[in-house]
Amino acid sequence: MLMGTIVSIEMVVGSSGVANGIMDKVWAEAERLERVFSRYLPESEISLINREAFYRPVPVSDEMMNVLSRAADISRLTDGAFDISVGPLMKIWGFFPEREGRIPSEAELAACLARVGWQAIELNQSERTVHFLKPGLEIDLGALAKGYVVDRLTALLIEEGIENAIVNAGGDIYCLGEYPGGRNWRIGLEHPRDEDEILTVLELKNRAVATSGDYRNYFIRSRLRYSHIIDPETGRPSQSKVVEVSVMAPDCLTADGLATAMFVMGADKGINLLKKIDDVDGVIVTEEAGEIKLYFSDN
Ligand code: ADP
Ligand code: MG
Repeated sequence: MLMGTIVSIEMVVGSSGVANGIMDKVWAEAERLERVFSRYLPESEISLINREAFYRPVPVSDEMMNVLSRAADISRLTDGAFDISVGPLMKIWGFFPEREGRIPSEAELAACLARVGWQAIELNQSERTVHFLKPGLEIDLGALAKGYVVDRLTALLIEEGIENAIVNAGGDIYCLGEYPGGRNWRIGLEHPRDEDEILTVLELKNRAVATSGDYRNYFIRSRLRYSHIIDPETGRPSQSKVVEVSVMAPDCLTADGLATAMFVMGADKGINLLKKIDDVDGVIVTEEAGEIKLYFSDN
């Protein structure tokens, strides 16, 4: 268990002794990353930024700068459907720190929306500082931190000479090389309403896939489903009819971030965007009147 999810690594290697040695290194790195990116740890770098960055530009690590810049790129690419400043909204809808869903009042929602907006996160690349231009702004990296962790752990495996492996952080996956026996790794896409059923199978080699869904982290009130991906424009859980998205990309941070964004953008806009981005593909699943529909990008 790491970052509130199950992280698993499978690798093809000559002996279990070698595997265990590599696993210890990889695990130490995973724990280090949690101490940098977790909102649950008051001493993490992200928690420090959230406490201080409105009052003064806060110096950050190269790693944090890199992740925040890439988050800003995804916000730009998706017209703000992706927005790491949704932190305060996650709180008033009861998704953070506990998962105990609640519906905020209109006044609460309006006050909270005033604290949101990715453009108010000022990144100074040369000074390597982060400065919030709005009071009450809070960053939540839940939409791409797991993807970044998968990329880091994969890079470590490659450094250790591993050629075939699969790294999985709660459904954010990198498929390195091949499955033993010389075929591609195959990832089953779970049916959003029936966990025993597979909707489709994706084949990957040296590629990442990330999946976002409305069926793990959600609550139901008056028969309506409220899931943990927020439309930054309305401040409410996304109502786009998308119930599941898988995005494949060369790296897992990109796949993770875009999967979350597709959820907010909806099937049509989402597929159009996926078609435009080189080397990125995906499946978007919608549910309308109880009917499940799949939309695919070009490949
Ligand atoms: P998970 O794999 O945990 O389901 P996702 O990659 O689907 O995570 O991202 C959901 C998380 O992203 C939320 O829990 C929240 O922390 C954050 N989030 C919610 N809405 C947005 C959004 N519109 N843009 C960026 N991050 C978001
Ligand atoms: Mg995501």
